Amino acid sequence: MRQISLIGGGQAGLLLGFALLEKGYDVSLYTDRSAEQVSNSRLPSTPFLFDGSLQFERELGLNFWEAAAPWGEGMHVDFRNPDGSIAFTVQGHLGELRGQTIDQRLKFSRWLEEFPRRGGKLQVRPVTVANLEEIAADSDLTLVAAGKGVISGFFERDDERSEHRMPPRHVSAIALTGPKLLGARPWRRIPFRPLRFNFVAGVGEFFSLPFHTQATGEARSFLFEAIPGGPMDRFLEAESGADMLRIAREVIAAFAPDDLHHLDGAQLTDANAWLKGSFVPTVRKPVGHLPSGRLLMALGDTAVLNDPIAGQGANNATRMARHLAREIVARGGAPFDAAWMQSTFEEFWNSSAQYATAFSNALLKPPGAPVAEVLAAATVHPPVADAFVRGFDNPRNFWPWIADLEEARRFIEQKRRSA
Ligand SMILES: Cc1cc2nc3c(=O)[nH]c(=O)nc-3n(C[C@H](O)[C@H](O)[C@H](O)COP(=O)(O)OP(=O)(O)OC[C@H]3O[C@@H](n4cnc5c(N)ncnc54)[C@H](O)[C@@H]3O)c2cc1C
Repeated sequence: MRQISLIGGGQAGLLLGFALLEKGYDVSLYTDRSAEQVSNSRLPSTPFLFDGSLQFERELGLNFWEAAAPWGEGMHVDFRNPDGSIAFTVQGHLGELRGQTIDQRLKFSRWLEEFPRRGGKLQVRPVTVANLEEIAADSDLTLVAAGKGVISGFFERDDERSEHRMPPRHVSAIALTGPKLLGARPWRRIPFRPLRFNFVAGVGEFFSLPFHTQATGEARSFLFEAIPGGPMDRFLEAESGADMLRIAREVIAAFAPDDLHHLDGAQLTDANAWLKGSFVPTVRKPVGHLPSGRLLMALGDTAVLNDPIAGQGANNATRMARHLAREIVARGGAPFDAAWMQSTFEEFWNSSAQYATAFSNALLKPPGAPVAEVLAAATVHPPVADAFVRGFDNPRNFWPWIADLEEARRFIEQKRRSA
């Protein structure tokens, strides 16, 4: 059977690894931390997965937390003025596209334990560019899914597809438990367990999502996306979880004061439940050439790294793992050459990743006329609001209307008529 090597034990690498094991491939996965180290690490991310992504995990029998974790059933978005007052609100239901956020420390540590049980070869060590030569020499195909790890820089930036040269946001997150954050209806005025979004003009955005973590079970994550140099850009000074929580309270008091009481009695789920940082969203060329001439292929964030504002990274990594699994099997015994790698990626880019990327980049800017018109309609027409929030499961659904005012008007009419 063909030998496939994967670098990186995250969403993309592990999912593709499991999918290929199921098809009988000989799969080696190299990752820089053991299950125990991952479990005891700092919060890496707070990724909400929509139904399309959860479905792939279900198919692979990896949905170990689905019955226990809280569901995000819809979105409640307040668009706010710079002083925190609400300009308008959009609230929509996800319906069957509802999703969950599982703490990646819990998920990946469990999946890393599961991988050898299903016949995968797990190697815990940081891979360097020099190691890549040995690994590729022993493999029919080597994929790098190292996320924001430095080794991802081995793949050349695609300037045409990469819009940013600087981090568009400074990103920070915490996971909290607290008496006013949990349960089916934590916000009394919202008739479901929400993904709670605040977009503050000229300041940034913050998002609170239902979260499931090892330490406390149900919790809520808070992701803050601060415009660099703006009034919310205060988290980088934090040196502990306690600092993060204090700054989070101050930011919410300043920009969403009506939400502040939800943090009464709140605390971090564990001492490591926080992160801060920034990065440049980057699309990379999918094929890497080693000095020997051997080839590598980029996967997940290594290939397409977006700002988390639209919640697309782990969803995109999942879609890409699924696409690769299908294409690898379809390749049969033919070589995984550069032309195959390029065309396999192009197909994924054209059918999926370009939309996740363009949508993420669009949310980083003030809305254009088509989006403004759809959002205005969504404030008064629930079917328009539902269609808008359901688009997050597959951002391709935002096209063509997101970029064309006439199409946006047609979209509004169509949704209103279907009510
Ligand atoms: C704060 C925040 C919030 C987010 N929210 C969302 C969201 O709501 N929805 C969503 O879909 N996405 C979200 N994302 C993005 C999401 O977390 C990532 O897109 C996703 O985890 C990417 O998966 P990946 O497998 O490509 O990389 P990762 O999950 O980052 O995995 C990479 C793995 O490679 C390992 N590694 C790195 N270097 C090496 C090396 N040299 N050798 C061996 N192993 C190595 C790492 O340890 C890691 O295990 C968010 C991100 C952040 C930061």
